Amino acid sequence: MNASVQHESKTHQAVLRVQGISKSFGDNHVLKDISFDMQKGEVVSLLGPSGCGKSTLLRCINWLEIPDAGHIRLNSERMGYAVNGTKVGDAQLSKMRSKIGMVFQHFALWPHMTVLENVMASPLHVQKRNRKEVEQEARAVLKRVGLEDKINMLPSRLSGGQKQRVGIARALAMKPDILLFDEPTSALDPMLVGEVLEVMRDLAAEGSTMVIVTHEMKFARQVSSRIIFMDSGHIIENRSPEEFFDNPQTDKAKTFLHSVQ
Ligand code: ADP
Ligand code: MG
Repeated sequence: MNASVQHESKTHQAVLRVQGISKSFGDNHVLKDISFDMQKGEVVSLLGPSGCGKSTLLRCINWLEIPDAGHIRLNSERMGYAVNGTKVGDAQLSKMRSKIGMVFQHFALWPHMTVLENVMASPLHVQKRNRKEVEQEARAVLKRVGLEDKINMLPSRLSGGQKQRVGIARALAMKPDILLFDEPTSALDPMLVGEVLEVMRDLAAEGSTMVIVTHEMKFARQVSSRIIFMDSGHIIENRSPEEFFDNPQTDKAKTFLHSVQ
């Protein structure tokens, strides 16, 4: 092992390192020098007023959005770049991305594929893994989210809560190192929110590393190891849930908590 590789493995033990990320859309400076680390098994809820840049930050983490400055490191590997600092090609990027599971507000399921096929698609076509093994694992993750009896249905036959559980199963099927949730329950009828939160709660209890953008404050408080609160493109609080909810330090966080609770 050469000296630089040794150095990397010693200094970057976090699962995720977000280092100095900035991102603008034209004149709109959305993310301003955002940095934080996540250790294995941590659950971070990313909170903040609408438009403060939460989705943009999640999209920068998996390189769906290319930051203007800064680095994202996943298990010390730099997203989008090879060890020698050159940009990686599409194949290598999609391999890196496959270590980051993303769950979207609007599910983004393939309408023409069954539940099982939806969950198998990326392991088969992105990870190019063996079909038999992929199918076995897909069945197992669908069982884990309580949908073993829906595997042959098309998404259009499912409720919103069931669709989102397929979305979670699909992310899990890639065996990601980290899961990113962007308002996973915001599009659901209130009655269906609980079943999705319950699956997420189980994942957290099993030690999954997760970043969650959510409006469910009670859930965020119960499930998170840390709250990161953003305002106007900056992280202005990064503290335990008890500290954040019981004793917010900034006026912006106080105003936010009044508006959502
Ligand atoms: P949040 O998820 O916290 O509500 P977003 O990250 O979606 O915030 O958006 C932050 C800001 O960036 C908003 O002003 C939004 O209009 C802008 N924005 C997000 N994505 C794009 C894009 N692709 N092109 C232009 N502006 C964008
Ligand atoms: Mg958003």
